[in-house]
Amino acid sequence: MGAGIRKNDTVIVRQGKDKGKVGKVLQVLPDKGRAVVERLNFVKEFIRPDRSKNRQGGIMDREAPIPLSRLMLYCGECAAGVRPRSKRLADGTRQRICPKCDGPLDAKSK
Ligand SMILES: [Zn+2]
Repeated sequence: MGAGIRKNDTVIVRQGKDKGKVGKVLQVLPDKGRAVVERLNFVKEFIRPDRSKNRQGGIMDREAPIPLSRLMLYCGECAAGVRPRSKRLADGTRQRICPKCDGPLDAKSK
């Protein structure tokens, strides 16, 4: 289970050309062990013109999936990548917290 990175998590890149950059996880691809991170790891995609779809050809920037091993959860409070601890709340749900500042790392998506 990689580093337990999930959709909407904020992560920092530990290796590669985007090292040190921070972004939001748009999508996790568990079977590939990769995640797509907003505005990171752009690759040029060449698009063929397709007249039937009234589409022009060209080059587009697109986010390519990054291996989960290169990503780490990011704590905004500490401004650093952290290895989260898991805490069980009174209502039985589990929450990931920052080991340094004890702040919650789960995205407030609900
Ligand atoms: Zn923290």
